[in-house]
Amino acid sequence: MRVLVAAKCGFCPGVRNAIRTAEKVLAQACPQEHVYCLGPIIHNEDVVERLSSTGLRTVKSVAEIDSGTVLIRSHGVAPGELDRLRAKGLHIVDATCVLVKRVQQIAQQLEKEGYEVVIIGEENHPEVQGVMGCVQNVVVAADESDLHKLPSDGKLGIVCQTTQSPEHFGRMLGAIGQAGFRELKVINTLCKEAIKRQESAIALCKRVDVMFVLGGLHSANTRRLAELCKNHNRETFHLQNWDELDKTVLIGKQVAGVTAGASTPNWVIDEFVKHLEAFDEKDG
Ligand code: SF4
Repeated sequence: MRVLVAAKCGFCPGVRNAIRTAEKVLAQACPQEHVYCLGPIIHNEDVVERLSSTGLRTVKSVAEIDSGTVLIRSHGVAPGELDRLRAKGLHIVDATCVLVKRVQQIAQQLEKEGYEVVIIGEENHPEVQGVMGCVQNVVVAADESDLHKLPSDGKLGIVCQTTQSPEHFGRMLGAIGQAGFRELKVINTLCKEAIKRQESAIALCKRVDVMFVLGGLHSANTRRLAELCKNHNRETFHLQNWDELDKTVLIGKQVAGVTAGASTPNWVIDEFVKHLEAFDEKDG
């Protein structure tokens, strides 16, 4: 089978930095020292397991950590969490992506300027939770059905979860713009790396019979990529690796496209492509 891989896909600089930082911290830790990560370092079980085998303990909350070093992943955390970690006397290594830090700082600045902060994004996503924790009053709107949550009057200061698509951000701004607010201040906090992955995936969708989006099912940016691809090629499948693929979807297809979320390692992509290239309908 002919396989085309998206020009831009896989690890982004923020994720790469978090993994490198974890490896460095683990290599430098004393034998007795515990090294924790608050939440999975990335949405990829293989990477989490590999780092766990070299000593990285993934925990869900600050309460589970008593001593040692704690790594903050690229999604960042709210300042309140950082205060709790400091109060416990832990050594904090902050691998928050600079672009996520920027959203946090912008949200704080908007609040200082008297705006009601609005985040376009997914309320349960750790990045959004971290930004929410930076301000007193905040509304999170995932889509148009959340617009009723916006204050009925006032000045809105709007930011966006970094991995949302420009189309969605634009649609939401259009809908908010029609609601008659006195003043809107919009700061574009979308991540260019995520946009590049979305654009090259969409371009590829138009050239292939079937499209595969590789990455964790909990990864927000991978899910977003899969949604976008589905809009441009109905034969789109989001899966984590080759083993998950129902091979019957390949029958009758000549050209397959492959892309991957920002937390998908290269070796997962390479392995998938290798299997696809070798796929023969007669064996399937
Ligand atoms: S997707 Fe963008 S914002 Fe998110 S970690 Fe990667 S580089 Fe940072």
